[in-house]
Parts: sequence; structure tokens; C-alpha cells
Amino acid sequence: MKALEGKTALITGSARGIGFEIATLFAAEGASVAVADLSEEASKAAAADIAAKTGAKTLGLGLDVSKEADCERAVEEAVKAFGKLDVLVNNAGITKDNLVLRMKEADFDAVMSVNLKGAFLMSKAAAKLMLKARTGRIINISSVVGQSGQAGQANYSASKAGLIGLTKSLAREFAPRQVLVNAVAPGFIRTRMTEGLKEEAKTKVYEMIPLGRMGEPAEVAKAALFLAGDGSAYVTGQVLAVNGGLYM
Ligand code: NAP
Repeated sequence: MKALEGKTALITGSARGIGFEIATLFAAEGASVAVADLSEEASKAAAADIAAKTGAKTLGLGLDVSKEADCERAVEEAVKAFGKLDVLVNNAGITKDNLVLRMKEADFDAVMSVNLKGAFLMSKAAAKLMLKARTGRIINISSVVGQSGQAGQANYSASKAGLIGLTKSLAREFAPRQVLVNAVAPGFIRTRMTEGLKEEAKTKVYEMIPLGRMGEPAEVAKAALFLAGDGSAYVTGQVLAVNGGLYM
């Protein structure tokens, strides 16, 4: 039997990158999947692509995770299409890097608003149903820099560290209703977010990673699959690092 047979999942920021890989793997493992991203058009295209590849039921939704009404509507539409919501993956994320003295207040706020507040709003919308159903999984995509800190990324690393605090608090609050909440903390993964790095910077990064290479989005998706499936039934409030040993 497939790992997520009969399950339904909503993944934010999943029109591409890591989110798209998670949505594709979940669908291949039997889940009905809602692709929810800023652009409705891109979400619908990704959902159609995943359905064609896997034969799964999919849905493409446009939403801005920093807006409460969008989050509530996305959860409602997923439930209308699939009948229930078993798994939420809070993956949407942005960067607006700069050294602190040059970082604009608006850039700090924007990153916190999508990466941290977005996960809070989506979790709140999904938890209403999950707590009633007495089952559910919430998976937050944090980052290695939320654990280690990073010069030039004060806003991003604060948002990702905040996501770890949110994960642990939700895990404690929801555990009595069997709703499990965990985080994945990826290291340097090959996506649009990292492709802008200069070759020189990439070489430096490889030297710091014990496994000596960047990770692939599919490798993060496998960690999310573990946290969504039966194998992690006794795991909550944890941060699963997928970073090649970069931070231990
Ligand atoms: P990505 O390729 O930039 O994809 C992020 C997706 O999120 C994009 O489709 C983006 O839409 C969407 N998005 C942005 N703002 C949104 C909003 N307000 N509401 C809904 N969707 C929104 O990034 P990625 O590398 O796959 O990263 C996915 C997650 O992993 C992020 O949370 C990131 O912080 C985390 N992460 C990545 C790495 C890495 O090395 N790549 C490492 C650690 C953690 P648009 O395309 O329209 O902007």
C-alpha cells in the first residue's frame, strides 16, 4: 500500500521548488493534493502536471499566506474538493537578504509576515478541522539558518527560528487531539532560492557541508513524507534536519 493512500494534503508555496517536490511525492504516494501558491495560474498548472504524472486528484489554489482570509478560503476549498484535510505543509517562504544596518523595516516585516505569520494563519485555519477530527499532521519548513543564524539574513533566520518555536508550541497544544506538528530544517537545497549564489560562494558552502554537496528538493520531500505518514505516529514537536551534516 502507498504511504499516503486515502489522505489529503495542502502544501503552500508548491507551484515550484521544494513545495512542488513535496506535492508530487505525496500525490505519488496516494494523497489527494492541493497546490496552493501566490499565483493561481501557476498553482493550477502545477496541479495539472502532478495529476498527469501520478494519476492523483489535485487542486490548484491561489493564496497569499500572509492574509488570514486567503488561508481560510484555501482550507475551505481543499475540504470542499477532497472532503477532509489530513496534512498541511507550511512551505511558502521568501528571502529579502541584507546586512542589518542596511535592512529596511519593510523587508524585515515582509519576511516575518510570509514565513512565520503565514504558517500561524494556515495552521489556525487547518487546526479547526484537524482538532475536531482528532487526527492531522502539520509540517513546517524551517531552515538550517533558523538553527545556526546567518549574517545577512537576520529577518529570514529569525522567521525560521520563530517557526521552530511555533512548531513546538502547536505540538504541545494539539497533542491531546492527536494532531502532530513537526518541522523540517533543510540546509542548502538546489532551488531558485539558492541558484543565485555565486560559484565562489557555492564552493565555500560545499567545504562546510560534511556530505560535500547541496541537497535536492526531492531529499527534503522524503523527510516531509516521513512526517506525514504512519512511520512518525509517535513523533511530535521535532525538527528534522536535512542538511548534509552542515549543522548538528
Ligand atoms: P522557492 O523556489 O522560492 O519557492 C517558494 C514558493 O513560495 C514560490 O512558489 C513562491 O511563489 C511561494 N510564495 C512566496 N510568497 C508566498 C505567499 N505570500 N503566499 C503563498 N506562496 C508564496 O523556494 P524553495 O527553495 O522551494 O523554498 C521552499 C521553502 O523551503 C521555503 O520556506 C524556504 O525558506 C525553505 N528552505 C529552502 C532552502 C533552500 O536551500 N532552497 C533551505 C532551507 C529552507 P512565487 O514564485 O510567486 O514567488
